[in-house]
Amino acid sequence: LVVKVCQGTGCLAAGAEETFRAFQEEIARQGVKAQVIPTGCQGFCQGAPVITVEPRGWFLHRITAADVPKIVDVVLKRGGELVQHFYRDPQTGKICRRPEDMPFFRHQLKIALRNLGKINPMDIEDYLAVGGYTALAKVLTEMTPEEVIEEVKKSGLRGRGGAGFPTGVKWEGARRAPGARKFVICNGDEGDPGAFMDASLMEGDPHSVIEGMIICAYAIGNCREGYIYVREEYPLAVKRLSIALEQARAWGFLGEDILGTGFSFDIQLKKGAGAFVCGESTTLMMSIEGKRPSPRVTPPRSVEKGLWGMPTCLNNVETFANIPIIILKGGEWYAQYGTETSKGTKAFCITGKVRNTGLIEVPMGMTLREIVQKLGGGMLEEAQLKAVQTGGPSGGCIPEEYLDTPVDYESLTRLGSMMGSGGMVVVDEGTCMVEFARFFLNFTQQESCGKCPPCRIGTYEMLQILNRIVAGEGQEGDIELLEELGRKIKETSLCGLGQSAPNPVLSTIKYFREEYEAHIREKR
Ligand code: SF4
Repeated sequence: LVVKVCQGTGCLAAGAEETFRAFQEEIARQGVKAQVIPTGCQGFCQGAPVITVEPRGWFLHRITAADVPKIVDVVLKRGGELVQHFYRDPQTGKICRRPEDMPFFRHQLKIALRNLGKINPMDIEDYLAVGGYTALAKVLTEMTPEEVIEEVKKSGLRGRGGAGFPTGVKWEGARRAPGARKFVICNGDEGDPGAFMDASLMEGDPHSVIEGMIICAYAIGNCREGYIYVREEYPLAVKRLSIALEQARAWGFLGEDILGTGFSFDIQLKKGAGAFVCGESTTLMMSIEGKRPSPRVTPPRSVEKGLWGMPTCLNNVETFANIPIIILKGGEWYAQYGTETSKGTKAFCITGKVRNTGLIEVPMGMTLREIVQKLGGGMLEEAQLKAVQTGGPSGGCIPEEYLDTPVDYESLTRLGSMMGSGGMVVVDEGTCMVEFARFFLNFTQQESCGKCPPCRIGTYEMLQILNRIVAGEGQEGDIELLEELGRKIKETSLCGLGQSAPNPVLSTIKYFREEYEAHIREKR
């Protein structure tokens, strides 16, 4: 018997550390032959703390330390069940014993998140047991760098950090760039409010990310050094990545002469101080170099002139986590999922007024409505669905009438939003969209690095206008001014932060203009 206790940040916040300790103590006290292992995020954050009991595959939620003695006695010792800890589907009333019985899990397709909640992220042997580092061994012994790049291109994988640039094309660019010293960087500077996909991956399956980076280093050539840039506010990710890096070195997957093939590569962990703008690639590199981080003009692109002026291949956490399985199963296998232009799957954090909040992964092309209804379990209590906000502070709000749109890079952009890194906030009728837009603009305005005037001054001006509208002091022409400022800021800002900062305001004006007008009409 194995009890897998989620030790992801969400469950830990709900007391999962005490739950874990209680299982250890109670199993010993009751003399039960069972093992307790910590896992990364199991996804169903709504039910935290959650556990899985193997080999039955039972999924139990809301398990506090006080519940543990009874679970050990009834479930582990006597083979019985405690129905109250199973999930009951509110739509059908059905008791769901296993994850696959729950609509939340049944409609998911886990590729990047394949190991999350299943393995102990602090034990490399757990990762090896599920086929970890076999993709690396395959690459180093059976494939040329060009073949690796070809496989990644065939998969159609696009950057999961938000921009959606084709990963294989980026790797090819880095390989072709002349340079005797190149770098691989993993961008773990996830900063969107409501997004925790990358945090969960780094905490729950750090070796997949590391393995993906080593494969990338081999593919681009002349690369012996890599960095994982992770924000300091993610202490659990920092801790588990540090452990994983040490273990990978000890097992010969990192360092000199990896697996006796003559290929050498190592990774350093670099902690960021929490500036949102450091998620932008050129800024992130400046931060690693120890300079004041602010974006620079591109071109030259980072694949030609990146870290310390050398060719650098930067991808985000989720992108790298997809690589080992693409190598093992093939690019065509991955490309069978998704839409014509957006292949594979995407991880999202679904939050807001839905019944089930948590970490999910779905095939590209699933509609927003399916995600809200099937995975999210519909709206909370009497709440009426109004909109879904995707892409965090850089994204936009998609109103209810457009929720049959398939999730892919192009469709979301056409609606005035974006995929972003994967934040998804479900909004109900009780939410004021002007205040909602103001929340996101306030965030980006504070995070603006101040280098270029359109973003520094423009977002400040937009925020002042929003403040006065919300305060009941809005004036005739304010909406038009917001639109004009927003358009200009998008066109003239230097980096992605400014280019996307007006999106929440512009999309809410586009779809919920009457709410802005009502605020202005109903002056105090
Ligand atoms: Fe800085 Fe904003 Fe300009 Fe980007 S757009 S360089 S964050 S001021």
